[in-house]
Formats: sequence, structure tokens, C-alpha cells
Amino acid sequence: MKILENIPIAKLTTIRLGGKARYVIEAQSLDDIESAFDFAKERSLPVWVMGGGANTIGRDEGFDGVIILNRLRGICINDLDHSAKLPNEVTFTAMAGENWDDLVQAACELGYSGIEAMSMIPGTVGAAPVQNIGAYGQDISKIIEHVEAYDTQTGDLVKITKPEMQMGYRHTRFNYGIDAGRFVILSVTIRLCKGCLQPPFYNSLQRYVENMHETNFSPENIRRMICKIRKEKLPDPAEIASAGSFFKNVYVDQAEADAAEARGIPVWRDADGKGKINSGWLIEACGLKGAELDGFRVSDKAALVLINEKATSYAQLEKARAKIIEAVKNKSGYVLQQEPVEIPTGAKMI
Ligand SMILES: Cc1cc2nc3c(=O)[nH]c(=O)nc-3n(C[C@H](O)[C@H](O)[C@H](O)COP(=O)(O)OP(=O)(O)OC[C@H]3O[C@@H](n4cnc5c(N)ncnc54)[C@H](O)[C@@H]3O)c2cc1C
Repeated sequence: MKILENIPIAKLTTIRLGGKARYVIEAQSLDDIESAFDFAKERSLPVWVMGGGANTIGRDEGFDGVIILNRLRGICINDLDHSAKLPNEVTFTAMAGENWDDLVQAACELGYSGIEAMSMIPGTVGAAPVQNIGAYGQDISKIIEHVEAYDTQTGDLVKITKPEMQMGYRHTRFNYGIDAGRFVILSVTIRLCKGCLQPPFYNSLQRYVENMHETNFSPENIRRMICKIRKEKLPDPAEIASAGSFFKNVYVDQAEADAAEARGIPVWRDADGKGKINSGWLIEACGLKGAELDGFRVSDKAALVLINEKATSYAQLEKARAKIIEAVKNKSGYVLQQEPVEIPTGAKMI
């Protein structure tokens, strides 16, 4: 178990902000995780668990506690018999520290569908259920079976099944309510089937398919298209600092969806009449697409993405965020909610 001291959180997060963490522990096994919690307890320090830092923001004051980086590795396919043929349906179990996109790639290469549209989402497998990651019409709630987790309240190993996760849009038992932050996810099991997605696809994927006259919708080919779309639109965290979408989309009931449409705001409707307003559209409608704000830039390719061009402090982020929220509120009346989580100064004491 590697214990590092005084590590800038900016180096652990893709938006590259945040002062120093007193301790950072890379956990490669359950033993490491338990030892890291013991280490924190002995020193009466709070603990914060992280994967790749692609949805996390550190504050300027840093974190006077222990950050555990989940580095548990391994992917296995269950339900295989001894015949050479792969079954139509399998479950994959991936350890929490695996790179999410490596799991997507492995599944696509074997012809399994269910996560191909979630290609190239940065970060780890363990963080994926926390905010119920999703993209281009798929989200993990549709294919997750269960997670194995370390319960920080009882010290037990627990299995949490999909219904117990209470998954909604960017919202789950892991990040909301009394159990937020309680479980360290150790592994994630998902169920996938052989097959192909069928058109019509989600907005930009559908446009791509039509423009490029694509007819092969195999998982591998959908993955290829998604990677192409994402590379054109979204910043590569290795080169450009951001946390991806900075704000959540706005979900509205039928009456509000009707009212929004009457005001010229596009709403992506569900079958029941409720709908989603793209917050990027709301930001763009304020003329902020491409705008420079306090060292940040509203991406000129996807207005929902806030790029850290030269900001060095959380204080700058606060200012930029306030300007965007204020502009959108004044223009449309909607109050945008931030998507990435912040390492709280008073993180839970274990
Ligand atoms: C360029 C870019 C594009 C993005 N595109 C998308 C997208 O299309 N769709 C989408 O949904 N998201 C997207 N994101 C956000 C991000 O990729 C996801 O939220 C991802 O799941 C974060 O993984 P991570 O390992 O980096 O999580 P971290 O940022 O390290 O952690 C996020 C949260 O999960 C918790 N956590 C992490 N690991 C564990 C664990 N093992 N057990 C318990 N809790 C844990 C943390 O405490 C924190 O609350 C994007 C981000 C970037 C930078």
C-alpha cells in the first residue's frame, strides 16, 4: 500500500483544481482499503474515495484527510461454459479501479451490446454507478446487476443489487441521501447481450449515422462512431482540463415541458410527455458558448463543458459558475445544478 503525503488534488482531478491532500493512498486490494480506513481512524482523519477524478473538484483549502484512490484491477466474464462458443447473454464483473472504457472495449470486441454508446467516458468502473453514468441514450442503470462494496459503517463486505441502488438521472443511493459516501464500491457486475442497437438512435448519433450512411450497428461499429463524435466534441482529459459536462440537464414534467416549448426551448420528450432540456442549449442561448470567464472557457463545441484554460483556484471557478447560473436564470428561469462533486472540507469522519 503506497501512502503519499501533501499531494495537490489538482493533480488527481481532470479539471486540475484543488489544494493539497494530507494523505493519498493507492489501494490495490480490499486489504489496502481496510488498512487505509484504519490508518485514517488512528489519526482521526476524514476519508474521501476517488477513482480517476473525472467528476471531482478539489477546493483551494485542500483536504486535511486521507484520499483513497481505488486501484483494484481485473475484468472477468461469468457464465461461460467449456464450449468454445460465447453465450448470447453474459455478466461481466469488473473491479472498481479498472478504466471504464477498457471494459466497454472488451465487451464490444466480443460483440456484447449494452454499453457501446458509453464509450470513452473517462474514469473508473467503480465510479460509474455512483452518478449512474450515461451517454447517447444508454446509462449504467439499464445493465447493472449488482456491486460488491465495503460498508464503511459496519466494516462488512456487502452485495448491493440494482433495485437497492435507487438509480435516477445522475442520482443514486451512492451520491444522495443518508447513504451518500457510505459504500466503497469494489466491483461492478453488468449483464450484456449479443446483438445490435437499432435505429433511431440518440440525436447526434442518429445524425452521424444518416450523414455517413452507416448501416452496421454492431457494438464495435457503434463504439467507433461514438469515439469519433466524442473526439470532435469533447475535450480529451489528457490534454484539456475539464470535468466534462459541468451542469446537469434539466428534467421537467409535462406541464413544464409544454410551457418551455411554447417559449421556444427545445425539449426532448419521454413517452409519458415529461422531458429533458439540454442545459448546454440554455447556456448557448445566453450567448455564452465559447465565452472566457475567470480563467475558464465555455467550450465552443459543447456549451455544457467548462474548460479550465488557465484558472488556478477554486475561487475562480466559483465566479465563472455564478456568472453562468445567473445568465441562464435571467434568460430562461432555470437554475442549473452542478454535475461534478466537490471534496467537502468536512468529509465524513469514519
Ligand atoms: C471529458 C469528460 C467527458 C465526460 N463525459 C461523461 C459522459 O458522457 N457521461 C457521464 O455520465 N459522465 C461523463 N463524465 C464524467 C465522468 O467521466 C464520470 O462521472 C465518471 O464516472 C467519473 O469516474 P472517476 O473514476 O473519474 O470518478 P471520480 O471523479 O474519482 O469520483 C466521482 C464520484 O464517485 C465516487 N467514487 C469514485 N470511485 C468510487 C468507488 N470505488 N466507490 C465509491 N465511490 C466512488 C467519488 O467519491 C465521487 O463522489 C465526463 C468527464 C469528462 C472529464
